[in-house]
Amino acid sequence: KKLKIACQYHNLHLPAEHTPAAHVIRELTSHGYEAYLVGGAVRDFLLHVAPKDFDVATNATPEQVCKLFRRSRVIGKRFPIAHVMVGRDTVEVSTFRSGVARQNEAGRIVKDNAYGTIEQDAVRRDFTCNALYYDMNKKQVIDFHNGMDDIQQKRLVMIGEPVARYQEDPVRMLRAVRLAGKLDFVIDETTAAPIAEQAHLLQKEPVARLFDELVKIIVSGHAQGCLQQLRHLGVDASDIHPLLFALQNAPRHGVIEQALLGTDKRVRAGQSVSVGFVLAALMWDKILPNYQQNQSNGASEVNAMLAAISAFRDEMERGWGVPQTMSATMREIWALQPHFLYLRGKRPFKLLSNPRFRAAYDFLLIRAKVGEVESALADWWTKFQYAKDDVRNEMAYSDS
Ligand code: ATP
Ligand code: MG
Repeated sequence: KKLKIACQYHNLHLPAEHTPAAHVIRELTSHGYEAYLVGGAVRDFLLHVAPKDFDVATNATPEQVCKLFRRSRVIGKRFPIAHVMVGRDTVEVSTFRSGVARQNEAGRIVKDNAYGTIEQDAVRRDFTCNALYYDMNKKQVIDFHNGMDDIQQKRLVMIGEPVARYQEDPVRMLRAVRLAGKLDFVIDETTAAPIAEQAHLLQKEPVARLFDELVKIIVSGHAQGCLQQLRHLGVDASDIHPLLFALQNAPRHGVIEQALLGTDKRVRAGQSVSVGFVLAALMWDKILPNYQQNQSNGASEVNAMLAAISAFRDEMERGWGVPQTMSATMREIWALQPHFLYLRGKRPFKLLSNPRFRAAYDFLLIRAKVGEVESALADWWTKFQYAKDDVRNEMAYSDS
């Protein structure tokens, strides 16, 4: 079934004019370069989903791109691309790359910055639905890999030979699962089949890159489905990344399950989620036993928590690849937990005015839901939070 499909042109109008990418495309084409909207944004428009970011592909080099835009810079050593700021958005502008890449003994791509043609650029992309190029002037989608048809059939199909493509870049396995979950696509059989056997290659990826991709899964709105899919594909999470292990082995009706359910619900309802909050829940199992242990060794609640947090910090940042800013948010949410135990005097007022109060309170609600703290405690904070001043004073200062 190795049919070579000729390039197809589909005349249709995608609502790209009012996106931040449109400005970049107009500027580039008016200077004689080729420039197309590409990747997830084209795919999402075709599926009537709002794209979350915009990528442009061009024959201009990153340096040439940056000459045209004041608010722009070249980023990335392995794959240099241009970031152009348009208003509050950042548009990623990548130069057509040939698939001619340097690989290591295992077939892993180590360097891939040879420029190429649009056809070559399409071949090095991951899935057929991600390799569509939209020409804004001609109102035409250029399709080298039958991507339009696969989108209509809701099929996720790897371009080229799946095993080799996973060896080149193992993260594509996680992308397959995430995109299938997010788009409600079925992973094509030949694309899905090798994943169980190749998943071990993920072990050698940098933890920070795996962490990024796992976070995308967590906040996709389909975290539960993606995890089921991974299990269904036969992926053994045990050695890939500690976060994946924690997710796949989460006890039923525990904090992790609650956090994932809540996140999926919020994302699907179009509400924002705090990544730091979700991650604080997902890694809570690494804190709680230590917190309890420190208390039985005689430490106060607050100190027991601080000690448990600092004992885990290094593992979380280096072993799990959690970026420092996110780790800081998580540590604050954890550190505030024991403060919810103090309901008298000035302390509850002080906690309420903490900038992390809301996230820490949401976390307390999850803990109450799974029976880790008294629900009366969570109720007290719910009431206190929404009460008028006189009621608050009554709650914190009355003798009854
Ligand atoms: P999302 O909706 O999450 O943004 P996306 O497909 O747009 O999904 P991006 O990470 O924004 O994902 O990547 C943009 C495009 O770059 C993809 O559509 C794909 O064409 C290409 N791409 C991204 N990652 C890879 C990869 N690991 N291998 C090959 N091509 C990739
Ligand atoms: Mg994208």
